[in-house]
Amino acid sequence: MPIATINPATGETLKTFDALTSEQIEAAIGRGHERWLTYRRTTFAERAGWMRAAAELLDAEKDDIARTMTAEMGKTLASAAAEAAKCAKGMRFYAENAAHFLADEPVDAAAVGASKAYGSYQSLGVVLAVMPWNFPLWQVVRFAAPALMAGNVGLLKHASNVPQSALYLEDLFVRAGFPSGCFQTLLIGSKQVEQVLRDPRVAAATLTGSEPAGRSVAAICGDEVKKTVMELGGSDAFVVMPSADLEKAASVAVTARVQNNGQSCIAAKRFIVHTDAFAEFSRLFVEKMKALKVGDPMDPATNVGPLATEQGRTDVEELVDEAVKSGATVLCGGSRAEGPGWFYPPTVITDITTEMRIYLEEVFGPVASLYRVDDLDAALSVANATSFGLGSNAWTTDPDEQARFAVELEAGNVFINGMTTSYPELPFGGIKRSGYGRELSAHGIREFCNLKSVWVG
Ligand code: NDP
Repeated sequence: MPIATINPATGETLKTFDALTSEQIEAAIGRGHERWLTYRRTTFAERAGWMRAAAELLDAEKDDIARTMTAEMGKTLASAAAEAAKCAKGMRFYAENAAHFLADEPVDAAAVGASKAYGSYQSLGVVLAVMPWNFPLWQVVRFAAPALMAGNVGLLKHASNVPQSALYLEDLFVRAGFPSGCFQTLLIGSKQVEQVLRDPRVAAATLTGSEPAGRSVAAICGDEVKKTVMELGGSDAFVVMPSADLEKAASVAVTARVQNNGQSCIAAKRFIVHTDAFAEFSRLFVEKMKALKVGDPMDPATNVGPLATEQGRTDVEELVDEAVKSGATVLCGGSRAEGPGWFYPPTVITDITTEMRIYLEEVFGPVASLYRVDDLDAALSVANATSFGLGSNAWTTDPDEQARFAVELEAGNVFINGMTTSYPELPFGGIKRSGYGRELSAHGIREFCNLKSVWVG
């Protein structure tokens, strides 16, 4: 993949960049490691000051950086600005909370024959973040804010189609006052990642993206015995039971499916509806999906912009076409209009069978799969019949059903009667092939720490 900004709404290449050479990568790792040796001695208060300054800058610049994000990957301008604001909030959260999340944990000194004994969270060193294009700022900030507050330094290998967003982030942290080398963007292709991972000065890695990318990075890190956090794909269930407020559930279903033009790991992708609610829910859902305006993501009236890459649209198209050829029914959308840009219409399909690829794979675009089930056990069975386990969503006012969904949905999170989303306060991550480890909350900041036992006689 070339490192370039290519406008997905037009297909036009706006700017290209050369990848770093092997020597430049080596030098950047050296700078990062040298910086860590002094940065780890800074106090939480100093780091928090720089982090708050980064949040201030981001808030002030959110409309400008939003235009860059929209030009690079096609999300609507309003959602890009909201993403920048969310990042500023996440930065403030860790500025505020890092010190107590990483406070020493005293133990009973007498029990271990010491005068003093405690667990101490210490930084690991240089951490590589391999990040995707779908939330060009947020995916990075939810790694960078806790990592920097913990005293680690970051190297960013961002997706090749968002280089300007990647460069903006390095510049932001420098302008906020972080010592140079604390956070560096490496403009490199995916084949150059191995050099970084194998360098002994790089302590750990985190990746958000597809399963093949995750498998590759985790395999190399396994070989090197380095810590990883993996946040991979998802095919989240959205279950609707008869007691639900169907009007509200249908509205949230639409937002959940088409957010970020359908390209979110925690977008609801499989809509599993109890037979008693099916007719009404599907009528409302299809009506609302049809009403969405697809078009230029810079236009404030647009609800759904283009997919980020031409390949991404081809992947979505192939999944839908194969399902339709095998007997699935299209309730709306289902084929793209001719014209420039990588647009795909909001689509609802049903009559999906277990042999279809769409039953098993993640659809990274505005396509909803609709299933009818007879009861709660059947709903859970369809919801869990996936290799993924990232998010999940259930709509019911029955407390017993809520309790069953909370326990029996196989996923890293469950949201009941509201949209699945990430909050700095809540742990975020998956099980099964959606990955492992947690981001955000106290758990996220501890992932890249050495929990050192300190014993003093
Ligand atoms: P990728 O997983 O290929 O890209 C994500 C990041 O990983 C990019 O920085 C990419 O770099 C890098 N990368 C890719 N392959 C490797 C590798 N072998 N070793 C090291 N780094 C690698 O996602 P795509 O953009 O290709 O999207 C494909 C599918 O992935 C989507 O359709 C979706 O299913 C899933 N996806 C899931 C996301 C999520 O949020 N969970 C986010 C994005 C994608 P480069 O850009 O240079 O290739």
